[in-house]
Amino acid sequence: MECIFCDIANKKQEANIVYEDTKCLAFHDIHPKASVHILVIPKKHIESVNDAKQEDAPLLGELLLAIKEIAAQQGVQQGYKLAVNVGRKGGQIVDHLHIHLLGEKDV
Ligand code: 5GP
Ligand code: ZN
Repeated sequence: MECIFCDIANKKQEANIVYEDTKCLAFHDIHPKASVHILVIPKKHIESVNDAKQEDAPLLGELLLAIKEIAAQQGVQQGYKLAVNVGRKGGQIVDHLHIHLLGEKDV
């Protein structure tokens, strides 16, 4: 199974990583759509929200808590947008669940 985000998680593919813990990873989007555009992923390969299982519930919570830290670290804690595209019809291009964190730096 080829997956670009698994490759990034396994350090087989380069990315500008800004956060890492045992379960989650975050890195800059290669085509940023805001001055801060970070992708936050579980290291576990889950294709999309539609493929998440009940057992993944704690992991999905960990992602949101990681985002809190990443937002502070990236200087957007005052406000930012989170987006999750699901399926082709929802604009998902990379089939490894990811949360877009988009924001402008706090002033
Ligand atoms: P999606 O449309 O699937 O929600 O978003 C996928 C995102 O991944 C896009 O914003 C795209 O720019 C980003 N992306 C695709 N390939 C790579 C890559 O190899 N490295 C990084 N850092 N981002 C990527
Ligand atoms: Zn993957």
